[in-house]
Amino acid sequence: MTINLPQRTAAVYKEADVLVVGGGPAGIGAAVAAARSGSRVILLEKRGFLGGNITASYVETCNHFFHNLTFKASGIYGELEQSYRAKFGSSGDIRPNAQHRFSSEYLKIFLDTFVADAGVEIFLHSFVNEVVREGNKITHVVIQGKQGPVAIKAAQIIDCTGDGDVAFAAGVPFDQGRDRDHRCQPGTVNFRITGVDAEFMLKGGEDHLKVIGKRFREDYRAGKTGLSCKRQDIPMGRMTQAGQISYINYPCAYGIDPTSFADLTRGETECRRYILEMLDYMKKNFEGFDKTELASIAPEIGFRDSRRIHGDYRLTIDDVLSGRHFDDEIALFPQFYDMLSPDANMNEGSPQDAGYNGYICSYPKDGLNFEIPYRTLLPQGLDNLLVAGRCISADHVAESGVRAISACMYTGQAAGTAAGIACKKSLTPRTISVKELQDVLRTQNLKL
Ligand SMILES: Cc1cc2nc3c(=O)[nH]c(=O)nc-3n(C[C@H](O)[C@H](O)[C@H](O)COP(=O)(O)OP(=O)(O)OC[C@H]3O[C@@H](n4cnc5c(N)ncnc54)[C@H](O)[C@@H]3O)c2cc1C
Repeated sequence: MTINLPQRTAAVYKEADVLVVGGGPAGIGAAVAAARSGSRVILLEKRGFLGGNITASYVETCNHFFHNLTFKASGIYGELEQSYRAKFGSSGDIRPNAQHRFSSEYLKIFLDTFVADAGVEIFLHSFVNEVVREGNKITHVVIQGKQGPVAIKAAQIIDCTGDGDVAFAAGVPFDQGRDRDHRCQPGTVNFRITGVDAEFMLKGGEDHLKVIGKRFREDYRAGKTGLSCKRQDIPMGRMTQAGQISYINYPCAYGIDPTSFADLTRGETECRRYILEMLDYMKKNFEGFDKTELASIAPEIGFRDSRRIHGDYRLTIDDVLSGRHFDDEIALFPQFYDMLSPDANMNEGSPQDAGYNGYICSYPKDGLNFEIPYRTLLPQGLDNLLVAGRCISADHVAESGVRAISACMYTGQAAGTAAGIACKKSLTPRTISVKELQDVLRTQNLKL
């Protein structure tokens, strides 16, 4: 059954050259790059803080897979990591050989000024799910606020919502999840604990958390844990002197459509049950965890994939694995993919299975990289919209490579720079010179 909604009017609150929707890794890259190109930029974020999955889902271990590689973070991501480190050091992490990790709490504070200092006007609590479209152009984006709908007018718009919400509202076709049945990777609610015996964990210069993780996997596979959550891995993030482990990436809810409120409700509640079960399991089975307490649960369930919009080119896993060269390359990234099976299947799958037969993960090896072409950021049928981050045009397995946090910031940086060029030259993102875009990105130290 459907009903017709009453017609409404909305005040036009502001006008921008470039409007970025979504303040996660992609949105930060896009907004900062567009502002640095001289455009008037507005960034809209539905939550009360920036950072996307890093802060809202505690995904603090960005780029852990760069560890031991010669590939170093570049562009705005590299700059952000460096200046964060100058201010907050290792975020209290005492794990040996730890690669850089953010604290999601310090990062919230850091991002407020990092983004504003670039000249971006930020509006939080600004949820967008409606646009005004005229032909191939979006003229306005509508914020659903508590005071009613409010419109922002913009020349160029960049969708960095992770779910492709702006593109969806504008009618752009998309894929979601696995081709066969549209199932996405599981959703996860990460959590944080305190009271771990930090001294014991590092005894003898060892990282005992790694040992615990390995043993947990073996026990899970041997059917010994009795836990109801289908997850064999238990990645853990920063450990502080005070015995806090800031990020435990464990509960998985399967078969959740990240765009359905009914499914999201099931995912959040199911994951919270798994957290309680795991907390009890840890106390009883992990050495040094007996005095552990639950410190906090991430504000929201996090997703690794969601809608992937149809762009002028669809990046494939073969492109990733073959390191295919594209003349319109806008970012280079270590060859990597990491996909949790949508079926809770703990076998080892292969990229060709596309997640049909089990978990597939390939950590980068030195010298093996892949290129992301500009056309994956250009949604079909629209002339003033770009997308960046995990919702760009890619197949399901290729997305599990481009979803890496720094890669999302790279595509954001490219989209922001392209939108800035389009504004300056009164062109569209599709008609700008890709060579000029690449030249500007190189001057911004983005690795191509
Ligand atoms: C459990 C888990 C573990 C992960 N582990 C790693 C890892 O170890 N390393 C790694 O690199 N990556 C990891 N990822 C993937 C990574 O977190 C994401 O792929 C990445 O954050 C995507 O960035 P994004 O900017 O595209 O989207 P998001 O991070 O999802 O940011 C989107 C932003 O847009 C906002 N938004 C959404 N919709 C709207 C709307 N309609 N209106 C206004 N604002 C909106 C959101 O609030 C959010 O701030 C993990 C993800 C999960 C869930």
